[in-house]
Amino acid sequence: MSSAIVKDSGERSLVPPFNDEHEQLRESIGRWVREEIAPHVEEWESLREFPRELYLRAGELGFLGLKYPVELGGQGGDCVHDAVWAEELAAAGASGGVGAGLGAHTGIATPPIFNFGTPSQHERFLRPAIRGERIAALGITEPGAGSDVASIRTSAQKVDGGYVVNGSKTFITNGVRADFLVCAVKTSDAGGHGGISFLILEREMPGYEVTRKLEKMGWHSSDTAELAFTDVEVPGENLLGELDRGFYLIMANFAWERLLMSLGAVGGMRRLLESAIAYALEREAFGRPIGRFQAIRHKVAEMATRMEAARSLTYSALRRYAAGEDAIREVAMAKLATQRACLEVADECLQIHGGYGYMREYGIERAVRDARLGPIGGGTDEVMREILGKQLGL
Ligand SMILES: Cc1cc2nc3c(=O)[nH]c(=O)nc-3n(C[C@H](O)[C@H](O)[C@H](O)COP(=O)(O)OP(=O)(O)OC[C@H]3O[C@@H](n4cnc5c(N)ncnc54)[C@H](O)[C@@H]3O)c2cc1C
Repeated sequence: MSSAIVKDSGERSLVPPFNDEHEQLRESIGRWVREEIAPHVEEWESLREFPRELYLRAGELGFLGLKYPVELGGQGGDCVHDAVWAEELAAAGASGGVGAGLGAHTGIATPPIFNFGTPSQHERFLRPAIRGERIAALGITEPGAGSDVASIRTSAQKVDGGYVVNGSKTFITNGVRADFLVCAVKTSDAGGHGGISFLILEREMPGYEVTRKLEKMGWHSSDTAELAFTDVEVPGENLLGELDRGFYLIMANFAWERLLMSLGAVGGMRRLLESAIAYALEREAFGRPIGRFQAIRHKVAEMATRMEAARSLTYSALRRYAAGEDAIREVAMAKLATQRACLEVADECLQIHGGYGYMREYGIERAVRDARLGPIGGGTDEVMREILGKQLGL
């Protein structure tokens, strides 16, 4: 067998479930991010928030309703369109913070309203959210309950006409400026799997309070809040889905959130790899571009392989999910494979950039900090391994 390296044109056909229409969407999201978001990312990181108007602009361009029906103001697409949105926000350089703020709205807070909401809830919450006029957040995590979601303590007492909510939530993305919160509450004394429900809490309800805007390691331009509820009166019409069936809503939502995080990591790795290659070709040391040193070339080769493996696993999970098949195992594998890979690829990219990588202006130190959330949020790596262990019969 010849050891000669065969030339590869670099051309690749589209991988299902993506088609030409998705590629056009990729281009328009990428253009928008490069022109209207990326130039402002550093300023928004310093300000610790991106402008609220960005939701309106994204709504105007149709990006907040890609997977929702036209009758509700959406674009009539499906989850594959939303997958393109998640991947390209990251690939085009929207930053972890902007990706998280827009992504929490489109990816985790509005889907339960579409999937489990009444026609009236669609009108009151989903339609204005698709236009970017009302901002949504999802509230599950509490100071005493993260991975163990069934142990939440925020309670909703049944009263005439509705519920009275008491408790608190923490780490809530968009929590500071959200107009409404899709909130998990305990609706039976026992709580647990059979005693959790969802209520839509609105920020103007008396007793609803943003108690703290949290300072974080990364995602600086997204807001992350601690919330407290003191005797918040919530009308019965704000019950989302069936009473005491909220745990199933959480599980359904988690699958999509984990896929979106996997897609975001794939997009992030694509961007980091491009940046590493460009720098390795341009930066010279000892009379040659650093990419001519085997040590650097091999790092890039490893990064490209990890990115491709992560992408293949993620697209495979997405194909199953989009076809309506069971995909718990594949989604957990995709989340587990992509998040630490993205963090490690970001760190290698920083190493290739040397001292410049450590400086803020290249955006690579930010990519490392932003990527650190991946193995924690949306279900930790340890929880993914537990899910997989059970799926594998152990
Ligand atoms: C920036 C940010 C944004 C977030 N946004 C939101 C949001 O919008 N809405 C929301 O509801 N939540 C949000 N979260 C919360 C996030 O989902 C939780 O942080 C995550 O689920 C982990 O929960 P925890 O932090 O309480 O950690 P814990 O559950 O306390 O875990 C601590 C450690 O113990 C390990 N561990 C726990 N259980 C097991 C087990 N069974 N086996 C082995 N190891 C275990 C964990 O893996 C982890 O290493 C956000 C978090 C962050 C940091």
